[in-house]
Amino acid sequence: MGRKKSFVKISKVASIKCLNCGEVSKRKIPKDSSPQYFDCDKCGQRTQTPVASCCIICAFTGKKCTPSLMMDAKIKGLEIRI
Ligand SMILES: [Zn+2]
Ligand SMILES: [Zn+2]
Repeated sequence: MGRKKSFVKISKVASIKCLNCGEVSKRKIPKDSSPQYFDCDKCGQRTQTPVASCCIICAFTGKKCTPSLMMDAKIKGLEIRI
């Protein structure tokens, strides 16, 4: 991929799909924490983070929470963009 500069982009919002009704709810990604559950906007069902996962962002949205991204960037020496 040539000389593309490596960086990590921090997302502010993630879409989480409810396992119960399929409704997609948008949630802000906290700057300094890893959310452990979310309550569906439509049916109110609470989705918890699976035991082996970091948080609901990492487990269900295809994105990573901010602390995980920071850790990744640190390990790989990548630039962080917000
Ligand atoms: Zn739901
Ligand atoms: Zn996470």
